[in-house]
Amino acid sequence: MAEFHHGGAPAGLDLLDDRMRALDRHCWSVSGEFRKLGELLDQDPDAIDGHVDLPGVLLYRFFSVPRSYWPELDVPARLAAVFGTSLAQAVVWERFSYADPNVLLASPGPALSSDAIHALADAAQADRWFSRLADRPDHTFFAVTEPAKGSAATELTTTLRPDPDGDGWLLDGEKCYVGNGARAQVGLVFCRRAPGPWGIEAVIVDAASPGFSAELLPSVGLRGARISRMRFRDVRIPRQNLLGQHLRPTQRGLHGARQVFYRARPGIAAMALGCAQAVCDHLRRQGLRGGAGGDRLSTVEDRVAAIRRLNHRTAADIDHGLVDPHRIAAAKAGAARVAEDATLLAAELLGPASLLDDPWLEKVYRDVRAFEFMEGAGNVHLLSVFQGLLKGRFLEGVGAGGAV
Ligand SMILES: Cc1cc2nc3c(=O)[nH]c(=O)nc-3n(C[C@H](O)[C@H](O)[C@H](O)COP(=O)(O)OP(=O)(O)OC[C@H]3O[C@@H](n4cnc5c(N)ncnc54)[C@H](O)[C@@H]3O)c2cc1C
Repeated sequence: MAEFHHGGAPAGLDLLDDRMRALDRHCWSVSGEFRKLGELLDQDPDAIDGHVDLPGVLLYRFFSVPRSYWPELDVPARLAAVFGTSLAQAVVWERFSYADPNVLLASPGPALSSDAIHALADAAQADRWFSRLADRPDHTFFAVTEPAKGSAATELTTTLRPDPDGDGWLLDGEKCYVGNGARAQVGLVFCRRAPGPWGIEAVIVDAASPGFSAELLPSVGLRGARISRMRFRDVRIPRQNLLGQHLRPTQRGLHGARQVFYRARPGIAAMALGCAQAVCDHLRRQGLRGGAGGDRLSTVEDRVAAIRRLNHRTAADIDHGLVDPHRIAAAKAGAARVAEDATLLAAELLGPASLLDDPWLEKVYRDVRAFEFMEGAGNVHLLSVFQGLLKGRFLEGVGAGGAV
């Protein structure tokens, strides 16, 4: 498969230390084939099956798996030590998405579920989960969204009720737009055991269970995500698959979902930034330098750099236990928007025919539109940014350290 060459180090990396910069370079070196592979996945997302042993795909698969479960992996120990952190995730997701975001989303591994497992599972549940995913390249799903309950996730209606024929549970309901829902072998489903926000639970669901069905939804872009509709009809959930039974209700289902969303959003923002930077570099390679077009491109590049810096700051803060939903929302919404703006600018400056003549540009033009909806729709994040502005959370700028 032909290698793709990345651009140089972009601006806005100044909050990264030497180790994070080395991680970024390592990700360059293992994602050279991703752009070509992304084109294949756009046609057939299951084509990932022939590439699960690529070093970059393995890196993604084990990124959030505790090291005690790792096989021999070709990752320098100094870099492996930061795997699983939010900041490293922002670095890795951006660099890989610069090459192609579909490869990450189509790849096997725990994906979003690891953070929920870390937050909610007891030791035996976590051991079963990570042992399984270390043993084989299974795909996973993380199912929250329902057909009529997207942004209003706390109103989800999928139910969990005691199984009259055993000591476990029965799951009933429907989910939609769930990544890898129709492809994965196992995953987490958020459901309701009682009314109200604290009645939400998370269960591990095996896709082979009777009563489980799922179908791929047709999608225009980011096809590697394989968004799916899922249905559960009296699906038996063994007692040990209900997460967080050792925790108080306030620490369980919804709490776990929030942990995942806060930690995932800098990753989604990073994916959008990787695409935006790739489009800007593409335009530079087409010879765009000065003039009005060059100035507009410089403005987009400056926005990418500023949002990257904010994203690194929020990710580093999460790693230090400081979660600021307003800044996280600002980075995610800003990254999704600048990625769209970069593709619109490219189509305008290169001319509408560029989307016919240049298959990569046409694909990234379609792909980036998904970021608006992943991990919360843009308007919902803008509402959070506005609340943050009212609270004065953005007055300090994006300094190098200290609490927000
Ligand atoms: C590629 C992709 C992968 C995904 N993967 C997963 C996954 O793995 N698991 C999962 O559970 N979900 C997943 N989703 C679903 C995603 O989380 C939802 O699309 C998102 O939460 C928005 O929900 P919705 O699509 O129902 O839109 P809605 O919530 O119905 O929103 C529709 C429109 O209304 C606007 N809106 C909503 N509420 C407000 C408000 N209060 N004020 C103003 N405007 C508002 C939104 O901005 C949007 O424009 C994925 C989506 C995509 C695109």
